[in-house]
Amino acid sequence: DSVFKNVEMAPPIQVFQLTKMYNECSNENKVNLGVGAYRTDEGKPWVLPVVREAESQMAADLTLNHEYLPVAGMPDFRTSATKILLGTNHAAISENRTESFQALGGTGALRLAAAFLGNVLGFKVVYVSNPTWGNHKGIFKSAGFSIKEYRYWDNANRSLDFSGMMEDLSNAPENAVVILHGVAHNPTGVDPTPDQWKTICQTCIDKKLFVLIDCAYQGFASGDLDQDAFASRYFADQRMDMFVAQSFSKNFGLYNERTGNLVVVTKDASKLPEIRSQMEIQIRVIWSNPPNHGARIVATVLNNKAYYEQWKGDILTMANRIKKMRQELYDALRDMSTPGNWSHITKQIGMFSYTGLSEEQVELMKTKYNIYLLSSGRISMCGITSKNVAYVAKAIDAAVR
Ligand code: PLP
Repeated sequence: DSVFKNVEMAPPIQVFQLTKMYNECSNENKVNLGVGAYRTDEGKPWVLPVVREAESQMAADLTLNHEYLPVAGMPDFRTSATKILLGTNHAAISENRTESFQALGGTGALRLAAAFLGNVLGFKVVYVSNPTWGNHKGIFKSAGFSIKEYRYWDNANRSLDFSGMMEDLSNAPENAVVILHGVAHNPTGVDPTPDQWKTICQTCIDKKLFVLIDCAYQGFASGDLDQDAFASRYFADQRMDMFVAQSFSKNFGLYNERTGNLVVVTKDASKLPEIRSQMEIQIRVIWSNPPNHGARIVATVLNNKAYYEQWKGDILTMANRIKKMRQELYDALRDMSTPGNWSHITKQIGMFSYTGLSEEQVELMKTKYNIYLLSSGRISMCGITSKNVAYVAKAIDAAVR
């Protein structure tokens, strides 16, 4: 008998299952609205031109090698990544109250945060938004946390349930970890207003909650890095202890290079050496030291003025294409007088739209039209192109009638 004989089949990871179904589908009109990865208007993955340039430069540089990076990661990458998050002149940086750790994507940054918060600080409870990116719960569960939710989505109004959110955060116990989506909330595409962020921040301070901002989409909401960093910078301005998990998967298109950064901001600099040493112990047992390629690309671009400007242009290209598709999808639904109010499609921001389609409607879109989207009704706007937007709109129209 095999020791594996009682291993049961795990439930499929929905978003990857959708891609598999899409790949196996023979309908030439099929559309993949599942995975959160940028696509061009031809529906193709996009290597940012600035990334290609940085890679050519790296390939020609014979001084580079494949030695291990330091446990905390590449210093140039970490400091420049922290600067685009907080802004070059942020007080936390000039007062040396920040530290950062290269991680395997945003996922790795979150997993490292969970390890430190659980193992070193002894925190046990995490609050995530309802709904949230599915992996938040899994990551913190596997680090031994118990998972609680705060209200976020008001389904009736397709908007933020701010009073519900505040009530739940106000009732959270001291030292609960609160995961906040720094910008472009996944899956709803609905963010708090600046004033609402201020209230959220004050509540976290008053109730002694530990803030972990998940910042996976800086640049993707507005097309502007500074504007999209509002929440992260506002919280850091308050001189509080906090973490930010940063991902370069989306805004650099470095999905398979696993490039992320866990930024630590502290009230005062005195405990940073101890924090650093403990964080390195956590890293050592999880991945020991991080991979080079993606971090080198990011560091190369961020430390070269011309590349940096080019990158900002590339981000704008992506953000603008998404906004254009929101408008075209909305216009198409309006032109067909599709039942319901669809203004949320243009109001929501970032990569996703939370359509409000029910599970049955999603199922119909899948089976009848071969349009693949999450059962929650979330669609990735990146999967929509000038060519398929009319088809997608027609399917939505049919599904809700
Ligand atoms: N956080 C959120 C909200 C996300 O949507 C994602 C990716 O989809 C991530 C974190 C992690 O991204 P990655 O690990 O690919 O960098």
